[in-house]
Amino acid sequence: MPSITGNKFGRRRILVTGGAGFLGSHLIDRLLKRGDEVLCVDNLFTGNKANIDHLANEPRFEFMRHDICFPLYVEVDEIWNLACPASPIHYQHDPVQTTKTSVHGAINMLGLAKRLDCRIFQASTSEVYGDPAVHPQTESYWGNVNPIGIRSCYDEGKRCAETLFFDYHRQHDLDIKVARIFNTYGPRMHPADGRVVSNFIMQALAGEPITVYGKGEQTRSFCYADDLIDGWLKFMDTEKGFTGPVNIGNPHEFTIRELAEKIITMTGSSSALEFKPLPQDDPIQRKPDISLAIEKLDWQPCIELDEGLEKTISYFKTVTQLSP
Ligand code: NAD
Ligand code: UDP
Ligand code: UDP
Repeated sequence: MPSITGNKFGRRRILVTGGAGFLGSHLIDRLLKRGDEVLCVDNLFTGNKANIDHLANEPRFEFMRHDICFPLYVEVDEIWNLACPASPIHYQHDPVQTTKTSVHGAINMLGLAKRLDCRIFQASTSEVYGDPAVHPQTESYWGNVNPIGIRSCYDEGKRCAETLFFDYHRQHDLDIKVARIFNTYGPRMHPADGRVVSNFIMQALAGEPITVYGKGEQTRSFCYADDLIDGWLKFMDTEKGFTGPVNIGNPHEFTIRELAEKIITMTGSSSALEFKPLPQDDPIQRKPDISLAIEKLDWQPCIELDEGLEKTISYFKTVTQLSP
């Protein structure tokens, strides 16, 4: 695709919203590695400058502090829309702002893509399936979401963003790519974001009780960040007509209790399990059917949970300086 920004080096300029966050910062590293220029737009609500500090002297990288709920006039060749708090404690902290980020943010980024006539990626989520009545979840499943519960600001915000993406596609022939991302973990997760992998590793390293919600019988399927980004990049390179939505995640399913026990063993921790009430609307099971990604993207994850956890535990040891 030719560059529309008239860059004298012939490089493509890529906008990544939410680029100072966990997944955005990994994506940016990969885009820079392949030679692109990157404009990272982030309001630093849950993102952290430490995730992009290593790029301070990179001339192909620019950071702009901006909230995507407000219009943005920049010149780029491609847009990756990732901006949105992703962990339940963060997105429930200011639920109105969460919905605004998903909905107003999507409108602004779609308006930008329309003006520039450029491709746009949406980081959607397995949460669009809610507490799924179909297992594993295929893209054709419409979901089971409570529209007025405490998770709705995120789930319904992301569902509305998908609607907007498909309406801009149908109405304005916009070149969209919608990925439904399942639970992903890895280095640069926020240590205090309350997600299960970060919570359990931090608790295990500190020798504190591991807080298992409910009986720990609910399931999740965990994808390592590098695998996920491989899938995103392949998806973004597919032909214009392939819009998705496409599930991107690891189909190996574990109970939360199994995860807790695995992390205790891998960290050599003396922590005990502490059972706490299951939060409202917490999905009972979740596992992606990734047949579409295998067929259309020739992609499937290759990093198994043990290997990914090993790398993630090492990262958390560094950030918390709990390493002996
Ligand atoms: P994260 O919280 O680490 O990153 C989100 C980034 O968006 C942060 O840097 C934050 O400061 C920024 N942001 C939030 N609101 C903004 C706004 N209004 N304007 C500008 N920037 C804003 O989360 P993550 O795990 O990296 O998730 C990235 C994307 O992937 C999110 O859209 C999330 O919904 C989606 N996703 C993630 C997962 C996962 O397991 N990590 C699963 C499904 C979907
Ligand atoms: N927008 C933006 N940057 C642009 C173009 C548009 O932020 O370069 C925003 C602007 O706020 C606009 C929204 O995107 O309201 C939707 O744009 P669209 O062209 O779809 O509709 P408009 O509201 O302009 O009729
Ligand atoms: N969970 C848990 N203990 C924790 C944090 C989370 O048992 O300290 C559970 C949570 O109830 C959910 C699962 O782990 O069933 C995944 O939670 P997370 O917040 O990571 O992601 P999501 O619920 O959005 O899939």
